[in-house]
Amino acid sequence: MIDEKLQPILEQVLQRNPGEPEFHQAVREVLESLGRVIAKNPAYLEQALIERICEPERQIIFRVPWIDDKGHVQINRGFRVQFNSALGPYKGGLRFHPTVNVGIIKFLGFEQTFKNALTGMPIGGGKGGSDFNPRDRSDAEVMRFCQSLMTELHRHIGEETDVPAGDIGVGGREIGYLFGQYKRLTNRYEAGVLTGKALFYGGSRARTEATGYGNTYFIQAMLATRGQSFDGKKVVVSGSGNVAIYSVEKVQAFGGKVVAVSDSSGYVVDQSGINLELLKEVKEFRRGRIAEYLDLKGAGSGAHFVKAGVGSIWDVPCDVGMPSATQNELTGKDAKTLVTNGVIAVGEGANMPSTPEAIRILQEAGVLFAPGKAANAGGVATSALEMQQNASRDSWSFDKTEARLAEIMRTIHDTCASTADEYGAPGDYVLGANIAGFVRVAEAMRALGVI
Ligand code: GLU
Repeated sequence: MIDEKLQPILEQVLQRNPGEPEFHQAVREVLESLGRVIAKNPAYLEQALIERICEPERQIIFRVPWIDDKGHVQINRGFRVQFNSALGPYKGGLRFHPTVNVGIIKFLGFEQTFKNALTGMPIGGGKGGSDFNPRDRSDAEVMRFCQSLMTELHRHIGEETDVPAGDIGVGGREIGYLFGQYKRLTNRYEAGVLTGKALFYGGSRARTEATGYGNTYFIQAMLATRGQSFDGKKVVVSGSGNVAIYSVEKVQAFGGKVVAVSDSSGYVVDQSGINLELLKEVKEFRRGRIAEYLDLKGAGSGAHFVKAGVGSIWDVPCDVGMPSATQNELTGKDAKTLVTNGVIAVGEGANMPSTPEAIRILQEAGVLFAPGKAANAGGVATSALEMQQNASRDSWSFDKTEARLAEIMRTIHDTCASTADEYGAPGDYVLGANIAGFVRVAEAMRALGVI
């Protein structure tokens, strides 16, 4: 339910941004949490603070022409939505995926603003990307595409202005090509302009692992509030990208057993526990499909593959669910199945992977639920640590960086929990995350005046 004072703000967002359902969903979810804030502190209704937070500071859409290996000209669309810079330079990833459009980038940029605020680091919120599909493209094609995208993007970014990173479809390879072109165009070795760089040219240790590790730390902290831990728990992790792989690694280190992972072609169930090395071989080295895991595991291993559309990965019984693939992948129906199967905690590794109905069902059933803007903040927080290392021309050890990440995740958990308590909804991490993130951004915006 949305407070009646906030309803006109939502109406205006819907009217001004037609045909952008994911953006509407993200805004609605935050506004639903803010009723309790304005009841306590009506000053947040002044200076159109909430309206301003819902309107990106700047939106850039541009043509990205490039030549494929056959010599044909291809045209993609590039985006950068610079959502909010009250707390620091815009910060957020680039997504390369055929489903990318301005509404998707706006929902991601909006979420990123609150997520980044929750980290406590000096970073604003932004997001970008393209409808380019890197799948089945050669290395040379990916390089030419990245160079063309950066030829326009470089005018809008900079280490004090806007610092992109990776997201779906953008990993170390793409960041390298993007950084190379930025350096060439600007004639500046400005390491802090992009994060997610490889270690040998300014990257941070633990950045690759950070989002998955961070979500695992967050869930560990939630479980601890009920005197529980990962030890002996069955876990399902959807996805098999960076976030999923390093969630599997950390869950295993904490004594849990991951029994299923997926990609857009389907999911693999391995009740003996997903073999991390085989998963990395399929996904990091071969860039292959998840069914290849079975080929590597060998016949008679007991593992099996279910094709996408035939079933849902959330049908696999588990104690902990970690949706780490993409938005709206975990539906109301999935949530019901999870509850029937006795799930005790769900932590979002991806951005907005649970539908509003799924969140409601899980929360009403008393399941510990961690929203992505809190639980997956470890990635961007470690990006901020990468910026810190770049600014001081320093490079920290893995242990030091991971210790900082763990501390940040604990703090985010505690902030969400104490904010939920303060606003009369103990255990509601969605409310806690939305309010704590909002208050930090809103206070900074108020201090900076109407800009
Ligand atoms: N794409 C990641 C996210 O959704 C990381 C962004 C970053 O490191 O800037 O938070």
